[in-house]
Amino acid sequence: MNLEVLEKSEHKLSFVVEGISIEMANAIRRIIQSEIPVMAIDEVIILKNDSPLYDEIISHRLGLIPLTTDLDTYKLPRDCTCGGYGCPLCQVSLTCEVTNTTNTPLEIYSGDLKSNDPKIIPVDPTIPIVKIDKNDKLILEAYAILGITKDHVKWQAVSNVFYRFYPEIEFDDNKCAKCPDRCIVSRMCPEKLYDFSNQKTPKLLEDYWKKCTLCESCVRDCPEKAIKVGEKVNTYIFFIESDGVLPFAMIIKKTFEIFLEKVDEFIEKLAAIEIKT
Ligand SMILES: [Zn+2]
Repeated sequence: MNLEVLEKSEHKLSFVVEGISIEMANAIRRIIQSEIPVMAIDEVIILKNDSPLYDEIISHRLGLIPLTTDLDTYKLPRDCTCGGYGCPLCQVSLTCEVTNTTNTPLEIYSGDLKSNDPKIIPVDPTIPIVKIDKNDKLILEAYAILGITKDHVKWQAVSNVFYRFYPEIEFDDNKCAKCPDRCIVSRMCPEKLYDFSNQKTPKLLEDYWKKCTLCESCVRDCPEKAIKVGEKVNTYIFFIESDGVLPFAMIIKKTFEIFLEKVDEFIEKLAAIEIKT
């Protein structure tokens, strides 16, 4: 297997992976999308709410605030020794106590949530929760636990994950040379992947494969049928976008841990059943 990282920033990761089957690529995508545990608020006790929003709406908004996650310390409640009742190994408490002492309405942000663990805090402190009027109060206590996207979308480790086939485009220069239309494909390609500045034969940009979405508009538009679009066997370009709840290195590590657990579970279950021949 070959792997080449194309882009890595705080919120985006893209890489080319070569030498894995499509089933494997899809398993990686599905685990990243729905099975990596992250922290999110799951229970809220509202002690005072003078805001115009109902308690339920505030609770819902709190649940969707991305929280930084520490998978080395915390366990999923179902795997915890407390049996899921809530203990320092599976639960974090966040409190919010704000009184508007100004003469104007006051916005309450995710940064107003005070966590009892400095490692589990809102990823972004500027997410608005609610606005309260002068002399009004909002006092609440919230509990965050680990969970997975399969149970609720608030436990989402990534904002987006997808892969596409590695495109390979070939075209026949001889056919291009006699084409009366100079050159409709270079004008119509939605990603502008063809360079026709020499006015003789179109040339593909060197890194066309990074942008090509395999829409095949070039195949349809070319009057000479000079273009063939295919894909490189067992090669995929992955794109992952994160809201910052977990670093990418941890997302990838956890993905393969979960994958291996699933393989073990499959082998175990297969051994336990009798297969009729
Ligand atoms: Zn516990």
